[in-house]
Amino acid sequence: MEGTEVAVDRVRKVGEGTVAVDLPTPDGWSINPGQFVQVGAPVDDGFVVRHYTVSSPYSGEGFEITVGVDPEGDLSPVLADLDEGEYVSVDGPYGRSYYEDEDSVVVLAGGPGVGPAVGIAERVADEKGAQNAAVVYRDVEHAHVDRLEALRDEGARVVLLDDDEALRGTVADLLDGAQVFVYGFEGFVQEAAEALDAAGYDGEPKVENFG
Ligand SMILES: Cc1cc2nc3c(=O)[nH]c(=O)nc-3n(C[C@H](O)[C@H](O)[C@H](O)COP(=O)(O)OP(=O)(O)OC[C@H]3O[C@@H](n4cnc5c(N)ncnc54)[C@H](O)[C@@H]3O)c2cc1C
Repeated sequence: MEGTEVAVDRVRKVGEGTVAVDLPTPDGWSINPGQFVQVGAPVDDGFVVRHYTVSSPYSGEGFEITVGVDPEGDLSPVLADLDEGEYVSVDGPYGRSYYEDEDSVVVLAGGPGVGPAVGIAERVADEKGAQNAAVVYRDVEHAHVDRLEALRDEGARVVLLDDDEALRGTVADLLDGAQVFVYGFEGFVQEAAEALDAAGYDGEPKVENFG
């Protein structure tokens, strides 16, 4: 068994094939949205660990991860089926591509990358004003729609793209000195880099590649 054992607070569906898992923050942890944790649970006769990115804006007593469920995967379906009070292990937090009090952000999110996107955008909306947060999110079926709509209502710029829509051309108008974050699987991360190049972004994006 690796890491610290924690009892699950809640698992809820936040979109088709996507769940949010609420976990208590272990003593001594300081977590920022966009950092990732290693989560482990028993699967069949073994113990499987995977990484998940923090999707809550704050993580004082508890934090949230957002899990895209791969029906063929080892761990994500197990996490989606957890009941309140069941135990998982957590280790971390890890990562360098997380929110560090920037005044203005643009988050490019593919699939479950929507988790850190909403967490970071909500934090910025709360502390810097919603007009300083922008999210471009592409997915087959969008998750966390209620939180994205709330952000938009507050004044954040939220662009939802279908899975077959190109990122290129969607980011140029949003950049304007903002720190860019990119969260998603390999193909999305590569396309985001190309879209940023095409838009003339000359900053250093904070990128987390989900593999
Ligand atoms: C830094 C980081 C942050 C991440 N953050 C998130 C996040 O916030 N949310 C999120 O949902 N995910 C995130 N991920 C991805 C996550 O860690 C898992 O990879 C994902 O949930 C799939 O895990 P799984 O055990 O369900 O599937 P796996 O068992 O890993 O399988 C994934 C797919 O690969 C196929 N497969 C497995 N083995 C083989 C093989 N030998 N040959 C062919 N196909 C195979 C499976 O059938 C399945 O379709 C992150 C990854 C990293 C590295």
